[in-house]
Amino acid sequence: MEIKTEILPPDQRRSRPNDKELGFGKIFTDHMLVMPYDVNRGWHDPVIRPYGPFSLDPAAMVLHYGQAIFEGLKAYRGENDRIYLFRPHSNLERMNRSASRMCMPELPVDTVFDGLKALLQVDADWVPPADDGASLYIRPTMVATEAGLGVRPALEYLFFIILSPVGAYYPEGFNPVKIYVTDSYVRAVPGGAGEAKTAGNYAASIMAAVEAQQKGFTQVLWLDASERRFVEEVGTMNIFFVFNDRIVTPPLSGSILPGITRDSVLRLLADWELPVEERAIAIDEVFAANERGELREVFGTGTAAVISPVGSLHYQGRDCQVNQGRIGDLALRLFNELTAIQYGRKADPYNWVIRL
Ligand SMILES: *Cc1c(COP(=O)(O)O)cnc(C)c1O
Repeated sequence: MEIKTEILPPDQRRSRPNDKELGFGKIFTDHMLVMPYDVNRGWHDPVIRPYGPFSLDPAAMVLHYGQAIFEGLKAYRGENDRIYLFRPHSNLERMNRSASRMCMPELPVDTVFDGLKALLQVDADWVPPADDGASLYIRPTMVATEAGLGVRPALEYLFFIILSPVGAYYPEGFNPVKIYVTDSYVRAVPGGAGEAKTAGNYAASIMAAVEAQQKGFTQVLWLDASERRFVEEVGTMNIFFVFNDRIVTPPLSGSILPGITRDSVLRLLADWELPVEERAIAIDEVFAANERGELREVFGTGTAAVISPVGSLHYQGRDCQVNQGRIGDLALRLFNELTAIQYGRKADPYNWVIRL
């Protein structure tokens, strides 16, 4: 499919703010990729055009019933000033799995990837320099635009990609997070949509996050919905535990999001010949291991932070301090290895990285 481009003249382009002022997802670049779908024409007329508002019918089905899915990945300014993408096809394939779960049309992956590369070339100046750990966050999104109030799969959709330069996740060094383990709320039920990156999962999670923050915690750890006993994931990250020298993470049971960072971490650990178990982990097991002095590390994995060390867990009035609130050796090793591959500083034996 041919991708049209409507590009701003140089004098109407904005410049990227200072890396210190970026934060996360507050500033967007000059252009976006947009591609509509309808049942008769399928996906058609992809265009790169200036970033700006859409006009939507008030009855657009996404506004009522939430047929909306998204992805999150990053472009890095790496060696020789080239732009690097990390496993972008994994994101697009996951987006198509989310689409089929929500009865939305699958994307033509090759066209979308070509569009993404073209968009990154147009807004290349927005990819921050690597030295301070900044990057360009990429947000592909699909929403149902058909006007109508019947509850059924929409017949019209809009796909778009917007770009946001983001600052270093750890500007002052690693900051282990304080986690609140909730047994009042659940994120996803068996048979639900927990595996899909769909908007409703995040809307439903906000209340638990707000309550945790009011109590002084950074993020929520979710337990399974059936028994409220087994660990699922933390905030918008997958989670790993180190019990003595055994590394464990919950299996992809259908209610947790299959993270690409999680998958990459599992691959590195296997190559390092470290023992890993994907199995159910009861929250009581975590606290018991801590009492026996066997809980070495806890960390989350996700695109935004890559590796996020957990400093403490709070569950039913009890606290569990992990590694004296400091980042553990394994978390640090994984962070260094993954970021070195992402920024092209280190050979990539996995073919994870695409250099533009
Ligand atoms: C996106 C996401 C993750 C992490 O996925 P990555 O592909 O590693 O970024 C984990 N959990 C949830 C709920 C998510 O939305």
